[in-house]
Amino acid sequence: MRRPVIAGNWKLNNNIEATKEFLLQLKDKIKDAEVDAVICPTYTSLSTAIELLKDTDVKVGAQNMHWTTSGAYTGEISGEMLKELGVEYVIIGHSERRQYFAETDETVNKKVLKALSLDLIPIVCVGESLEEREKGLQEDIVTNQVRLALEGVTKDQISKVIIAYEPIWAIGTGKTASSEQAEEVCKWIRETVEKLYTSQESEAIRIQYGGSVNKSNVKELMGMPNIDGALVGGASLKMDFVDLIKY
Ligand code: PEP
Repeated sequence: MRRPVIAGNWKLNNNIEATKEFLLQLKDKIKDAEVDAVICPTYTSLSTAIELLKDTDVKVGAQNMHWTTSGAYTGEISGEMLKELGVEYVIIGHSERRQYFAETDETVNKKVLKALSLDLIPIVCVGESLEEREKGLQEDIVTNQVRLALEGVTKDQISKVIIAYEPIWAIGTGKTASSEQAEEVCKWIRETVEKLYTSQESEAIRIQYGGSVNKSNVKELMGMPNIDGALVGGASLKMDFVDLIKY
């Protein structure tokens, strides 16, 4: 049985004060969660989140990292630095990073390998654009992104990876993929993992859906056989996140 994993991606929201206020309210409400719950705040709120959540089961993730340990990379943060803080998860290759910060399949792969080498759990984002879906290219686009992201990931490491299927047209738009559309792509992702490894690894890997998940659609999405969790943007900034964790 795969344990569901619900992660909140706060993006560029919530300063330290707002992080404190939100998490102090959240932590009492999610004591008996039956899923792995993860909050991914901005870098500057990571320490605050880790401190506040240390006596709970809620884990903390970063929204990005660099693949080198140190060097002339102005503005970047390394995986080692995240580990030093006590971060356990890291989102890699979010479509906003691919779109606005020139993230490529190659840099995504480097980051995935580095995260795994440090025992950070990578949440690897893949997904097609609206234009690509309208041309019926979603299977090719997504399975190719998965193959490239996982290049060099060993059989022993693959079960630690989480893949998040996030159709770009559904992110922050209020337009959710139907549960059938989401399931179809998550199934292709699992089949791709099976082709790259074996059915044992493909059965173990956790695949999330992300894109306008909210308290009204979470149950149906989570009921699909190949969807093991959600990566949540907007709804993770509200107390609604409690309803998502307790779907
Ligand atoms: C996201 O940013 O990963 C996301 C899914 O956002 P939203 O839930 O707001 O669509």
